[in-house]
Amino acid sequence: MNQVRSTASNISAEIVARAHELGFNGAGVVRAEAIAGAPDRLDEFLAMGRHGDMSWMRDKSDRRADPKVLWPAAKSVLMLSMNYGPSKDPLAILEAPERGAISIYAQGSDYHGVIKKRLKKLARWMVETHSCDVKVFVDTAPVMEKPLASAAGLGWQGKHTNLVSRSYGSWLFIGSIFTTLELPPDEPQVDACGSCHACLDICPTNAFPAPYQLDARRCISYLTIEHRGHIPRDLRAAMGNRIFGCDDCLAVCPWNKYAQQASELRLQSRPELTAPKIAELSRLDDVRFRTLFSGSNIKRMGRDRFVRNVLIAIGNSRCLSLADDARARLGDPSPLVRAMAVWALSRLLNREAYRSLRQSHFDNEEDECVRAEWAQGQNNGG
Ligand code: SF4
Repeated sequence: MNQVRSTASNISAEIVARAHELGFNGAGVVRAEAIAGAPDRLDEFLAMGRHGDMSWMRDKSDRRADPKVLWPAAKSVLMLSMNYGPSKDPLAILEAPERGAISIYAQGSDYHGVIKKRLKKLARWMVETHSCDVKVFVDTAPVMEKPLASAAGLGWQGKHTNLVSRSYGSWLFIGSIFTTLELPPDEPQVDACGSCHACLDICPTNAFPAPYQLDARRCISYLTIEHRGHIPRDLRAAMGNRIFGCDDCLAVCPWNKYAQQASELRLQSRPELTAPKIAELSRLDDVRFRTLFSGSNIKRMGRDRFVRNVLIAIGNSRCLSLADDARARLGDPSPLVRAMAVWALSRLLNREAYRSLRQSHFDNEEDECVRAEWAQGQNNGG
């Protein structure tokens, strides 16, 4: 028995060493049945509707909650993390209202591809070297990655609900390899958030009902990336110039300063995505949107939702010079875009100018939501 255990430990150590060679920062093993409390927490989250319209979370909740349901043959799960900490202050862009803030992870090429390549390499090596079966998952799969990564000792789920590591702070991508190998599990890391609540305090939209709980419906990352409809009126102003994602709660984590200076995963930021001009982004049609975001995570959300976000940033800019760009979108084919053009103009124009615009557009507008925006804008003093 001891012999078996020590062999399994050796295999585990070899796999972890190989993972580091391939550029993963953290690697740890967890038993496939290890996250006993996670299904209840997921059920609670879903029952409260905090997943918003991410219906895929509900649809696959039984598989998400239990790796054994996802793949009954799995004995162990190898969890891997990769640091993508930025080299510059990611919050500085928030002081430049004519520019759009894009989340650090989305400023380069699609990270799924980068990680998946490395995961597949490692998985192939595991199959060849240790004669096992494997399945690789990264982010898009129905896997509860954060509790699993936490149980595998890669960090802990911080008060902002993301994974935090003593070595790499809060900037971590997570991936997993399920395997039929029976490997000795690693020890979970102890929560070291202590009395710090910087991530809770900085959240612009109060998306944390309590420490360790997130209401995705209020989170700017969810609203700008996942949410398909109109963004609730009461949350738009707090979005500022964040047009794709939000890094605030990650960026203020004090553990970031202990992260290794150089990120292992050097996501090459594309210069045109680090501080793009919102005026130019508002003019993107579908073809130009697809060209600009070719190979990027952003492309998946589609042009209309993206321009919706850009118009909210224009409305928050206080730059009257951007009113012409918002005005140009009043005839946009997408009601999502037209509605936010109206909202932006209600913020930028004086009462008289807004009224005259409303008079020339309201009667021709057929979409109920856009008409409601025109009316609301007027109520707000437009
Ligand atoms: Fe709040 Fe931004 Fe963190 Fe979402 S990503 S919880 S909006 S600070």
